[in-house]
Amino acid sequence: MIMIAVKGYAAHSATLPLRPFDFERRDLRPKDVLIDILYCGICHSDLHLVRNEWGRSNYPMVPGHEIVGRVIKTGKNAKKFKKGDVAAVGCFVDSCRKCPNCKDGLQQYCTGGLVLTYNSYEKDGKTITQGGYSTKIVVDEDHVLKVPSKLPLEKVAPLLCAGITTYSPLRYWKIGKRHKVAVLGLGGLGHMAVKFASAFGANVTVLSGSPNKQRDAKSMGATDFALTSDAEKMKTLSNHFDFLIDTVSATHDFDFYLGLLRTNGVMICVGLPSGEEQLSPFNLVLGRRSIAGSLIGGLPETQEMLDYCGRRNIAADVEVIPIQQVNQAYDRMVKSDVRYRFVIDLASLK
Ligand code: NAP
Ligand code: ZN
Ligand code: ZN
Repeated sequence: MIMIAVKGYAAHSATLPLRPFDFERRDLRPKDVLIDILYCGICHSDLHLVRNEWGRSNYPMVPGHEIVGRVIKTGKNAKKFKKGDVAAVGCFVDSCRKCPNCKDGLQQYCTGGLVLTYNSYEKDGKTITQGGYSTKIVVDEDHVLKVPSKLPLEKVAPLLCAGITTYSPLRYWKIGKRHKVAVLGLGGLGHMAVKFASAFGANVTVLSGSPNKQRDAKSMGATDFALTSDAEKMKTLSNHFDFLIDTVSATHDFDFYLGLLRTNGVMICVGLPSGEEQLSPFNLVLGRRSIAGSLIGGLPETQEMLDYCGRRNIAADVEVIPIQQVNQAYDRMVKSDVRYRFVIDLASLK
């Protein structure tokens, strides 16, 4: 069997830095496309998985699920893409296509075996997928997205996870005009939440632990900014918000933030800290508040989001790095020191 040689960066254990790793991709099946990767965003989920913070990591692991590149070859039955097209891949590369969620375009909630872009098994049950910190990827074209032509590609890459993960719940809960929305944590997901929520007409407040992010929050569309350590200011925001989008990557006090919701308010968790969070039913019962979660987005909605971004000229704020700096980028991400997404330029590996 012919395989395709690929260069990447991989984690070999939870404690070692990522390092160069040569591996192979499958040859093209009839509906596959081969993508030469141009840019790949660095998501905090990559860091959680590399460091085995969720307890289900396989090594060697090539992370990366915010992928933009150029199609360089197509399988004989591929119709959606042709050689030379710009294409994008997000957090999953296959789904069962038969379960009710897949049929509804909610592939992220596939109950028949979602294949994640890395640290996941292919449908054969034994091949482990490897992600976008690499030079090339092979994906069934049904799970590849089209990229709007006008946006700079390095700023598009983060839309494939940070973008859709915040766009999807904002749409699901129909958040827009008349809503007061808090975005907790101004990182990769948080900054996209601010951009989308303000584009949809909501009144957005950023809740952040980083005082030096205030000016950026306003330029992204927030009307207010509160330092979570500023007790006086936080007191003025109790019973205040219709929605709170929680993007925080580390363990934090859910009860405190629930108290910021007004009657019928909804706290939407997208952040996935590894700790066991505590929650008192009192904060839900008093005020008929809800707490909910949301996972990335399905294929149709991801395409809708990309097209929306193209029309409205919305994209991520990025720091482009060569892949050789990935470990330093991880260390900065843990310190919340990213403006606002690291994106790897894969030219550095070719
Ligand atoms: P990120 O860029 O590192 O941003 C996280 C932000 O959370 C930081 O910028 C910081 O904001 C805040 N924060 C970090 N540590 C904190 C602490 N100890 N206490 C309070 N706030 C803290 O991460 P990301 O890529 O946006 O991802 C955020 C989380 O979402 C991760 O857990 C990731 O795994 C998860 N995720 C979920 C989905 C999904 O489908 N639901 C998809 C992608 C990612 P400030 O500096 O403003 O305080
Ligand atoms: Zn992600
Ligand atoms: Zn399915």
